[in-house]
Amino acid sequence: MTNPIDLQFDRDHLWHPYTSTTAPLPCYPVVSAEGVYLQLEDGRCLIDGMSSWWSTIHGYQHPALSAAAKAQIDRMSHVMFGGITHQPAVELGKRLLAMTAEPLNKLFLADSGSVAVEVALKMALQYQQGIGAAQRTEIMTIRGGYHGDTFAAMSVCDPVNGMHSLFQAVLPKAHFLPRPTTGLHQPLSQQDAMALEQGFNQYGGQLAAVIVEPMVQGAGGMRFYGAAYLQKLRQLCDKHQVVLIFDEIATGFGRTGKLFAYQHAEVVPDILCLGKALTGGTMTLAATLATDAIAAGVCNSAAGVFMHGPTFMANPLACAVASASLDLINQGQWQQQVAAIEEQLQAELAPCRTLDTVADVRVFGAIGVVETKRAVDVATIQQFFVERGVWIRPFGKLLYIMPPYIVSSAELRQLTNALYDALNNERCFTISDH
Ligand SMILES: *Cc1c(COP(=O)(O)O)cnc(C)c1O
Repeated sequence: MTNPIDLQFDRDHLWHPYTSTTAPLPCYPVVSAEGVYLQLEDGRCLIDGMSSWWSTIHGYQHPALSAAAKAQIDRMSHVMFGGITHQPAVELGKRLLAMTAEPLNKLFLADSGSVAVEVALKMALQYQQGIGAAQRTEIMTIRGGYHGDTFAAMSVCDPVNGMHSLFQAVLPKAHFLPRPTTGLHQPLSQQDAMALEQGFNQYGGQLAAVIVEPMVQGAGGMRFYGAAYLQKLRQLCDKHQVVLIFDEIATGFGRTGKLFAYQHAEVVPDILCLGKALTGGTMTLAATLATDAIAAGVCNSAAGVFMHGPTFMANPLACAVASASLDLINQGQWQQQVAAIEEQLQAELAPCRTLDTVADVRVFGAIGVVETKRAVDVATIQQFFVERGVWIRPFGKLLYIMPPYIVSSAELRQLTNALYDALNNERCFTISDH
């Protein structure tokens, strides 16, 4: 018998993500998790529709991941990576390089997604210095993006609704192209073509890098856009000698129906950021991959080395679990699973379009999004979902489902039904919204 979770202590002392500590919303105590289920302290089980923020793709407590963690913890949980190497890092590196595009040949193992983005931006800047283009110090991105919560990452998040507008005064200034209008499976829109040309004509000579989330803008608005945009972006980066960074921290490892979202466009970035699902949601680990050309430029800069090295770089425990997760990915079931989830989400979220409260419904891969006209009341809707046996965490006007790939069709139906019922329930919306 374990002690009950001290919720009062939690309320009084613990920050939660994007949450007030003086007027916190209720938190649900979870004591264990298995498969797609989270178990609450009171014994209720919830189907996790969020994959714990894109990460738990194989479900909780997957035996292969737990076994890898246990085996590694008995050998070595951690050792510094400065001057030392180890089998978990080498094994993970081999797997990651084998599954990503051929030119991506150098790997930096960071400790979280935001840090992987910092590393990518820093690499681009050092690369430009190393090839004698030190005047290229600026970064361009597109509106509606999300790249993390650290300072350089914040500077390329959407400047208005990117959660970080409070910090505008101290953030480095990035250049923002308009949000892409090119839809999935559509040719490049005239608007996008013009905006891209104009952005590069105006800033091309100052830019070190462009960073985008390919195909799916995640926490910045859960929007999808077409491959044609990325193809044009690649052309312009080449023409203007600008480093192209793809942030696939959310989309990597099958979520969009391809192993990596860049494969929809057949466009390869110079630098690629991975995270979230890398360890199958077991623990934190992220990766920044770069081409040999980028690495050569970085190491030709004044410092002669890449200036970054976190304490927990290439943590052996995390690397061992990540390799086990990639072995599961390489077995290939995710392809049928994601395709089946996509088809079911298309079918079962379609009826939401008829509801007065709904502005848009969109599905891509194992991602289903319902955008509402008014903001939802988070505390009420969360309780509604918990009572219906599901875990769906909305933000603002966005309700979305991205379940573990192993979700059954009956479990997925429970998620989509709960979503429909919530949207059809006036109680779940805020009284007034501006
Ligand atoms: C979550 C996310 C990040 C930040 O990752 P953390 O591990 O939370 O620091 C960066 N980019 C994208 C696209 C993300 O979805």
